[in-house]
Amino acid sequence: MAKTFFSASEQEQIIEAIRKAELNTSGEIRVHIEALCEGDPVARAKTLFEQLGMDATALKNGVLLYLAYESKKFALIGDSGIHEKVSQAYWEREIGLMTARFKEGKNCEALCLAIEDTGNQLKQYFPYQHDDADELSNDISFGHGGKDE
Ligand code: CA
Ligand code: CA
Repeated sequence: MAKTFFSASEQEQIIEAIRKAELNTSGEIRVHIEALCEGDPVARAKTLFEQLGMDATALKNGVLLYLAYESKKFALIGDSGIHEKVSQAYWEREIGLMTARFKEGKNCEALCLAIEDTGNQLKQYFPYQHDDADELSNDISFGHGGKDE
């Protein structure tokens, strides 16, 4: 089940990483975890991005980290405001780092470090505002479906 792929303490680490990252930036980071992804993970992440209402941030600076653990696929995508600022090289580097960590079985670390890096990247372009609102929940979003559910 998507909800048990990470242990309770690992989930807390991931949520804490999001919370900390968002202390530095007005950007909003979310994580979605599900078992299976049959097609292209980037396309799936884009669909989820809309379903989760992540395209509704004022500065168009939401970032979604998507993981389909059974399919061993993942994606990291950002809204248009971020795309105008962050180079393609950044996303590619993050994907490379995550791929290496997943291969080592460091799944929780892969997510937490990607969240931390993304927070550092976002703060250059979208610094934290004193009246910042938590526009998107920091909680992990879990998908349904997959052979074990
Ligand atoms: Ca915020
Ligand atoms: Ca948030």
